Amino acid sequence: MPCTLPSVRILNLPVHDVNMESALTAIDSFIKSRTPHHVVTADASMLVMAQEDPALHGIIGRADLVTPDSVGILWAAKRQGTPLRERVSGVDIVENLCARSASSGYRIFFFGAAPGIADKAADRMRAKYPGTQIVGTRNGFYKDTDVEAIVQQIKDSRADVVCVAMGIPKQEKWIEANRDRLDASILIGVGGTLDVLSGTTRRAPRWMQRLALEWLWRVINNPKKISKVLLLPRFVTMVRRAS
Ligand code: UDP
Repeated sequence: MPCTLPSVRILNLPVHDVNMESALTAIDSFIKSRTPHHVVTADASMLVMAQEDPALHGIIGRADLVTPDSVGILWAAKRQGTPLRERVSGVDIVENLCARSASSGYRIFFFGAAPGIADKAADRMRAKYPGTQIVGTRNGFYKDTDVEAIVQQIKDSRADVVCVAMGIPKQEKWIEANRDRLDASILIGVGGTLDVLSGTTRRAPRWMQRLALEWLWRVINNPKKISKVLLLPRFVTMVRRAS
C-alpha cells in the first residue's frame, strides 16, 4: 500500500513529514496490510552516503516510509523552506512499538548488534513493558552462509516487525535483499538502537539532543564514530549548494 503521508525532498531523496503518532499510525496500517514494508530512519550521514551509493539511493527512494531521524535533516528541510514537524528516531519508534506490543499483539524480532545485545535489549523491553512480544533475536555478526538460517529463524518466529540493527547501509541492503521472504510486514533499519535499549550505550542527554550535539556525545563515547561525524560538514555543504 503506498504511503499517503506528505513528504519533502532533501538532496533528491524523500523524507516524510511525520511525527511519532502519524508514523506509528502508518506502521499500524502497513502491519494490517500483511505485506512487506520498508521503513527507513534517515539521518544526515545516510543521505550523504546515498549520493555516492546508487543502490542505497534507490532503496531510500523506494521505501514505504522515511522518517527524519536527525536534527541535520530537520535543519536542511527548514533551510530549503519545506520544514518537517519533528525528529522521529529509530530508537523511539522501536520503544513505542514495544510499549504497544502487548495490547496490539504485534510480534517483534530484534536482529543485529554484537552477540548478547539483542537478548539483553529484549529482556529490558519485556521487563519495562510486561506482555511485550519480542519473538526472537539474532546478533548481527554472521557469515554469508548463515543468511538462509537467519531468514528461516525470522520466518519461524512469525514476526510482524523485524528491527534490523546493523548500521547504515548494511541494514538497508539486507532488508532490500530479504524483505520478500521474511513473511513480516515491517522491516526497519535501526542502527545502534539495540545497544541503547540493552543499556550498553547511553543516549545523549536531552539537552545535548536539543542543542544538536548528539554527534559530539557519540564521538566522545565511541571515537570510531568520527568517520560518520565527518559526513556532517559534507551534508551541510551539499544542502547549501542545492538550495
Ligand atoms: N553491527 C552489526 N553487524 C555488523 C556491523 C555492525 O550488527 O556487521 C551493529 C553494531 O554492533 C551496532 C550497530 O550495528 O550495534 C551500528 O550502530 P551505529 O550506531 O553505528 O549505526 P548507524 O550510525 O550506522 O545508524
